Amino acid sequence: MPAKINLALKVGPARADGFHPLATVYHAVSLYDEVHAAWANPDEFEVVVSGEGADQVPLDDGNLALRAARLLARTHGPHDSLGVTLTIKKSIPVAGGLAGGSSDGAAALLACAMLWDIDIAPEALRGLAGELGSDVPFALLGGTAVGSGRGEEVVPALAKGTYHWVLAFGHQGLSTPAVYRHFDELNPHARQPEIPAELMNALRTGSAHQLGVTLDNDLQPAALDLQPRLGQVLEAGMEYGALGAMVSGSGPTCAFLVDSEPAAVDLSIALSADGLCRAVRRATGPVPGARVVG
Ligand code: ATP
Repeated sequence: MPAKINLALKVGPARADGFHPLATVYHAVSLYDEVHAAWANPDEFEVVVSGEGADQVPLDDGNLALRAARLLARTHGPHDSLGVTLTIKKSIPVAGGLAGGSSDGAAALLACAMLWDIDIAPEALRGLAGELGSDVPFALLGGTAVGSGRGEEVVPALAKGTYHWVLAFGHQGLSTPAVYRHFDELNPHARQPEIPAELMNALRTGSAHQLGVTLDNDLQPAALDLQPRLGQVLEAGMEYGALGAMVSGSGPTCAFLVDSEPAAVDLSIALSADGLCRAVRRATGPVPGARVVG
């Protein structure tokens, strides 16, 4: 299950239901969580988590993977005879703005459908994904895609080429609701969001240079206010030669676009050496969404 970054994240005023309307361009990158599903006794739903940030992941119904399994059993199965033990190996940092939880939710939907031999139409699967969370339908789809509504309505985008990214992980997570709350304070007159045309042009031509200057995240000022150190991380990355830099989603992960694999290696080394972030990883995108392996 890949992580995602938002190449564009345009945010409107909060709706009556509390969600914000989004116009976003999702991009799946090669940093993966693994979710394994095994039979458990009827009506037993359990999750075991290891790896990056495992101690911060809820093991109760707050866990998106567990919620996904229960939702699928309730809506599509003889639910009193189904049960599952989910084992999650995390590489995507928790509360990092990379939608790790959403990816695990999408993976659990697929893995449980396979395990329980539930024949579910792709459309119905996407519906369940949207119920679970705004980023979950994209996690099923992967690639590069335009998201609207609250992010749950996704359509593949016309995008050429492969992009090289360097991801810098923060020392602490950032709460997505807290970032949106601060966005509301900073933008009392937010307008209806629109996808930036220049960014879509850049994707169509496959130009990393053009993409670098059109990356656009409305949540970035709010994230920088809540974690001012992120401003230094973004500046450092640009000084070391990135083509573009942005906070990923609600942060605190910072994403840097470079034009080649060697440039990604150089930037990772430079960013690791200056100690502003907890860890640095290289990734490429776009990559496919949730996949069943084995
Ligand atoms: P969001 O998807 O809300 O933008 P994010 O990408 O910043 O969030 P996630 O790693 O998805 O970060 O985690 C957000 C919160 O979701 C975590 O703090 C955690 O409490 C909860 N959570 C639920 N299930 C999971 C999971 N399987 N992995 C990680 N976090 C999970």
